[in-house]
This record gives sequence, structure tokens and C-alpha cells, in this order.
Amino acid sequence: MLIEVQDARLHPVAFDLRWAAGKDAELASLPEVAGELRFQGQARPAGEGLRLQGHLHGDIAPACARCLEPIPMTVDRDLDLLYQPESVIGESAEVEIHTADTEVGFFAGAGVDVAEVAREQILLALPMQPLCRPDCRGLCPHCGANLNQGPCSCAPAADDRWNALKTLRKPAP
Ligand SMILES: [Zn+2]
Ligand SMILES: [Zn+2]
Repeated sequence: MLIEVQDARLHPVAFDLRWAAGKDAELASLPEVAGELRFQGQARPAGEGLRLQGHLHGDIAPACARCLEPIPMTVDRDLDLLYQPESVIGESAEVEIHTADTEVGFFAGAGVDVAEVAREQILLALPMQPLCRPDCRGLCPHCGANLNQGPCSCAPAADDRWNALKTLRKPAP
């Protein structure tokens, strides 16, 4: 849904978008979304651009960085975003208007696509190195077994390392 600056200048534009994982093509690039995603709020004019205030709520399940199991999480955040047309980049004084807790984004064209905004915010909400639990044992590098579910039948890698150390330390004849 594209919100055009000229429309917001006439009156605030309310939006209420919902997507469901697996049903909406717009979420195809976001495999982490596990349930319904809802983004609702209002757009008002701000300088040459728009100010978006709203609420983003959704269920996501990013993969554990070690064992790749999905980790159920909820995104539930208030958003206050400022968007300025790309043409203001360079007119530096104009860009400095943002306050400490308002993020500034830029758009090309007539306005801001709020579906794109929701996608960006979900990506920002994803943890960099999600872990299903702090002591996740990860996958066996040899057979790929999930070591949280018990040891696999591969030889423990630690033994190999100790053997190599013994060889190195063998005194010269
Ligand atoms: Zn894990
Ligand atoms: Zn293994």
C-alpha cells in the first residue's frame, strides 16, 4: 500500500494491513514470519515527506544460529518513523530535523509503501545471532544431527584434537 505525500497533506491517512505467513506473496521474502503480521497506524505530512506512527505486531520464528530450529518470538513494537524524499539528501540542514528517538528513512517517488516499511522493521527486529537456548549444542559438523537431542554416533571431535596435540609434543628421538 503506497501512501502518497499529497494525500497525507489533505488529511492524515490511516492504514491497517494484515498479512498471513504462507498466504501472502508480499511475505515470501520473509521466511521468519510464522503467523499473522499486522501493521496499523497513521501517516501525516512532515516537511517534504511523511511521518508514520503506528504499531507492528506479529509472530516470527527465526532459525537458531547453531541448530537451525525455529525460535518462536513475538514482534510487538510502537513505531514512529520519519520519511523524507531522496531529493532532500544533500540539503543537509533539512535532514537534521529528526529527534533522538525518531528514525529517518528516505523514499523515491510519490510516497512510502507501508508494506515495505513493515518488511524493513521485521528485519530490524530479528536478532543477529538467535539461540534457541544459551547452551544450544548445535549440529554435528559430520552427520548434521541435532546434538540437543543427544549425542550422535560420530567419534567425538575433542579426542582428535587431543591426539594431534600428543603427536606434536612427542619428544624428538
Ligand atoms: Zn539451537
Ligand atoms: Zn555426528
